[in-house]
Amino acid sequence: MSLRAEELMARQRPSFDEITRLVEVSSTIAVCAHTSPDGDALGSELALVELIESRWPEKRVCALLADDDVVPRIYEFLPGAERLVRAADYHEDPDLFFCVDLSAPDRLADARAVLERSSHVAVIDHHPSAARFWDAGVVRTEAAAAGVIVAEYALHVAGGLTPTMAQCLLCALVTDTGRFQYQNANGEAFEVASLLVDSGASPSEVALHVYQSDRVAYLHLCATVMGRITTFEQGKIAYSYATDADFEATGVPVAECDGLVDIVRRVDGCEVALFLKQVPGGKVRGNLRAKSDRDISAIAREMGGGGHPAAAGFTVEGDIDQALSAVLPKLRALYAHDKGTVPLSCYVGDKPAEG
Ligand code: 5GP
Ligand code: MN
Repeated sequence: MSLRAEELMARQRPSFDEITRLVEVSSTIAVCAHTSPDGDALGSELALVELIESRWPEKRVCALLADDDVVPRIYEFLPGAERLVRAADYHEDPDLFFCVDLSAPDRLADARAVLERSSHVAVIDHHPSAARFWDAGVVRTEAAAAGVIVAEYALHVAGGLTPTMAQCLLCALVTDTGRFQYQNANGEAFEVASLLVDSGASPSEVALHVYQSDRVAYLHLCATVMGRITTFEQGKIAYSYATDADFEATGVPVAECDGLVDIVRRVDGCEVALFLKQVPGGKVRGNLRAKSDRDISAIAREMGGGGHPAAAGFTVEGDIDQALSAVLPKLRALYAHDKGTVPLSCYVGDKPAEG
């Protein structure tokens, strides 16, 4: 273990011990991640469930899905994915509700009712959180993925990881760092990745399922999204979108479109990438990404969402045009102070200049 890892473990130990105390006094435990679960949410949750069950076999542990969102196809390979239960179908009052990869109760959707029925709450997360609602937890925003902290907790309580836990956590880490390409891919992330591979995780298997198993229909949707990329502010802001009609025409379920913002961020010179998609219930979901050090999480919060400085999201009522007219002026305001040197009418892209 490196000096950094040892220091980090020493700092986390008291909080890890508090979490362990809660686990030990609980008979029933519900573990849950955020709505619209991604690789970190699912991988961290499944690894944590396996850890608790193997370390404390007498506990009754349930792996919950926050709502009726299906497990995205690319994550079905995760060991344990078949045992996820929708929160609406879980009727117990657990002794412990364990949130992972989220620390904002509004992202719990239907599982919020389970949280409210529980006696205690534990959290392992890496999102900035507004207010503490848990009894014990570790929330470290500099951790690349919640899975990093779950791996460290496993080392702390069990001294190691099984190959299946390692595989779930490698998926968490690979996806939340964009294959170790985002700004959050720090030394700790690489160190934990090395530990996971040494514990039996397979990077090629994760890559095969997550990045090399696209259906042709999905690639056709990608082509549509690519064809619509529009840029503003001299190419610094790029956005694209997908509508109900696109999902219908291609036959791709909305839940399988998490990666489309990554197509937008590929634009050379773009600093802020936005992807909008229509989701059921007359709403639009937005994914925001920053390639520079501009913090887009405040804009996500203004839109009713949240997230990290470089990766955030939101959901709003209305259609794509309405969402775009709400969020675009906020993004362009990020560049307002640059306007001295940039003519207001100077835009790149296929949309007419505006505002
Ligand atoms: P994504 O765009 O991939 O859905 O989310 C990017 C990041 O922002 C993730 O870490 C996600 O958990 C967080 N995030 C996305 N949407 C929301 C939201 O509506 N509320 C909050 N608090 N965080 C969000
Ligand atoms: Mn995460």
